[in-house]
Amino acid sequence: MNFNVFKKNGQPLPIVHYGSPLLREKSREIETLTDEMREFIDRMFASMEKNDGIGLAAPQVGENIRLIVLALPELDSPEEAMFASPGERQLLGRMPLALVNPEVVPTTAEADIMQEGCLSIPGIYADVVRPKSVRLKAQTPGGEGVDVECSGLLARCLLHEVDHLEGILFVDRAEKESLAEVADELAELEKNTQKELQGKTPKQRFSA
Ligand code: ZN
Repeated sequence: MNFNVFKKNGQPLPIVHYGSPLLREKSREIETLTDEMREFIDRMFASMEKNDGIGLAAPQVGENIRLIVLALPELDSPEEAMFASPGERQLLGRMPLALVNPEVVPTTAEADIMQEGCLSIPGIYADVVRPKSVRLKAQTPGGEGVDVECSGLLARCLLHEVDHLEGILFVDRAEKESLAEVADELAELEKNTQKELQGKTPKQRFSA
């Protein structure tokens, strides 16, 4: 099945910033992927591209539904492909990729530390320890089931994006010392976002 059923001409959506309650909600499972949601995926791709992101979760553009998009770089040599996980080999050539109802379960006790950022927390970076590999289960918008082990940047990105669907942000998992360095900026961003949101009630397209 052709996964890439979208025209990539969506209009970018505004990014929801740290301090908005939308980022703290648990997102709902998608039962049926509607045409409106397909259009929304196009807009998520456009939003990710506009902001130079490698991943984006639906709550970051105002919808608490279990949907993420990824745009990770391809493996660029046969050597790299040889050491890549099955998930990297299967998925990295298919970007941008949308995943519906993604689930990730760590498959190793081994962990990596890496500096992370987030389009909802612009300009702020901190070190986060995460498992090195995960088993990903999801559906593509074309209805194809994905069930594959992923490691590398793909695993990290999946863990970061699926966290968004649970209302968890990378700063919640960041190393204490690393987080302390950005605490003031983070508090300021939160304050500014809350000021902007004053008196506004966010409306969701895909309400339950
Ligand atoms: Zn993020």
